Parts: sequence; C-alpha cells; structure tokens
Amino acid sequence: MANLLEVERLQTVFWTGQEEVTSVDEVSFSLKAGETVGIVGESGCGKSVTSLSILRLLGQHGRIKQGEIRFNGENLAVWPENKLRRLRGREISMIFQEPMTSLNPVFTIGSQLTEMIRQHTTLSRKETRARAVDMLRKVGLPHAETLMKAYPHNLSGGMRQRVMIAMALACKPKLLIADEPTTALDVTIQAQILELMKELRQESGAAIMLITHDLGVVAEMADRVVVMYAGQIVEEADVFTLFREPRHPYTQGLLEAIPRVTGDVRRLAAIPGAVPSIQRMPAGCRFHNRCAWATEHCRKETPPLIETGPDHRVRCWLASGPAITHPLKEARV
Ligand code: SF4
Ligand code: MG
Repeated sequence: MANLLEVERLQTVFWTGQEEVTSVDEVSFSLKAGETVGIVGESGCGKSVTSLSILRLLGQHGRIKQGEIRFNGENLAVWPENKLRRLRGREISMIFQEPMTSLNPVFTIGSQLTEMIRQHTTLSRKETRARAVDMLRKVGLPHAETLMKAYPHNLSGGMRQRVMIAMALACKPKLLIADEPTTALDVTIQAQILELMKELRQESGAAIMLITHDLGVVAEMADRVVVMYAGQIVEEADVFTLFREPRHPYTQGLLEAIPRVTGDVRRLAAIPGAVPSIQRMPAGCRFHNRCAWATEHCRKETPPLIETGPDHRVRCWLASGPAITHPLKEARV
C-alpha cells in the first residue's frame, strides 16, 4: 500500500534572536493508512516539533529548512498557508495535551461541534446533532445534551480537552496527529480516548501518529515505533521488535525505566544525565555523554542511521558491525 505520509530528511530550525538552532535534524519516517506510529523520547527530543512541522504550525521563529513532507504524494512543506489551512482539521487533525486551537469563547460547545461535523460530512441537521451528542458521550463527558448548550468557560480544562478530542475525531481525518493526548486526563478517561482512536482507525482506516513518552500507551496502540533523541531518530522498528530487541542504548534505557508490575518504579536510572540543549549539541553521537558504552570514536564521529534488520534502523556505532554483540545484552546475561 502506498504511504499516506512521508517525512523525508526533515530539518526544522528556530531563530533564538541570536542564532539559528536545529530542533529536528534529518528526520525521515512514513505512515500508511490504518497504521499507528508511536513517536517516543524524553521532552525536548523533537517529537512535538516534528508533528508541528507537518502542518507548519511553527510560529514566527520556526521554519522547515530542509526536507519534504509528502501527504498523499504532495509536498506540504511548500504549500501556501491558505491551502494548508483547509487541510488542517479536515484531512489531518491534531490533538494536543494543551489544546492549541482553542475553542471559540463566544459559541456554544454544541454549535462548534456541529459546525465541524457539518463541514466534513453530508449528514442531515438531525443526524449532525445526534453525532455531536454521541461524540461528547464517547469522550466520557457526562450530561452531553446539557453540555451542547454550554460555553467553553463553563467547562474545566480537562473537559475542554475532551471536547477538542471529540472535534478532532468527529470529522474522521485521514491522519490524526496526537501529541500527548491523554497525559493530563485520568486513567479511565485515558483508556476511553485510546479506545476511540482505535475505533477511528478501524472504521475509517485513519493513520495515527501518536507522540508520547508513555511506553505503555505505545505498546497498546502502535504498530511501529520511532525513538527520538536530541532532534534525531535513534531507532525505528515494529513494536514487537523494539520491545523485544531494542538495539540503541537509549531505547534500552527507556525500556528499563518502565514501571515494573511489582510497583517498583525505576525512573530513568538506566540513563543518567539529561537531553543536551539544542544550542549546545555535543559532537559525535549526541547520546555519548549519557551512554555507558561510549568510546573515543563515539565522541568524535556521528553514527549514521543504519538498517540492522527488516524495517529496523539504529543510530549507534555498536549496531553497525554485524558481528558485534551489544554490551548491554552481554551485561544482562
Ligand atoms: Fe553509545 Fe556510542 Fe552507540 Fe552513541 S554510538 S549510543 S555513544 S555506543
Ligand atoms: Mg512535547
């Protein structure tokens, strides 16, 4: 099947007032219809900037310096703003932890939701209203009928977030970009929202780009996983391979940090230190100052992203030689 989205060698930069800094560097990945790709990494690794680059929601200081973003074969990176605006919310919907496209304060929830549905479907007035009420129920909002008449200021932040999710899903986008969509919500609601996203994928064959730091959510939702570190992809594999045979020391550290079923939470203990600032990117492998296996070579030379198996890509010098066993694997035996 042809790819719905192809991000190729994306480089996104920001102007700080003094210099230009690279926030996303040479990022390439693709997404087929009906597929869910999880993008994971610590905050500041470039996950959100990658998603914002797709629809060029980068603000006045950010820009795509290089690369292509092909959606249905068309390069969005060069589309004019007015054409992009029509695509946003229709073919491509986004949901954020903190809604960026906020609700309009002067219209009721009902009128905003029905307007959204009306624009994207051929349903009758009655059916449109019924769909709106149903969507509010599906995102776990009580008293949906009453809520239709409420204004955004009558709702709590968490409720507004769920209305935004209802709006994003109601118009059945071809691509849903969800950036930490459920982080601020409690676990029951979180499960409901994930279920809704699965429904969307099944019913309309939508592709989902799920950005999260929660590997539990990734395991449940994603077909493929892209791991980002310091603005670059460091590993990409199908979800089973990534969890079973992570090859990059950073991915291995992230997996080590998952809370155990025993309740023994090991935070990023496996990875000391922090993501380097994009203004002071270290030379060589960007992970070298946190990596237990860093060598002189790693500190000087940047490892390329290499194919280590079918659909498995890794950016690490240790992964490049076919005969090399990863030290962490040895250490674990
Ligand atoms: Fe660690 Fe070297 Fe691999 Fe980077 S290239 S992750 S420093 S072993
Ligand atoms: Mg983010």
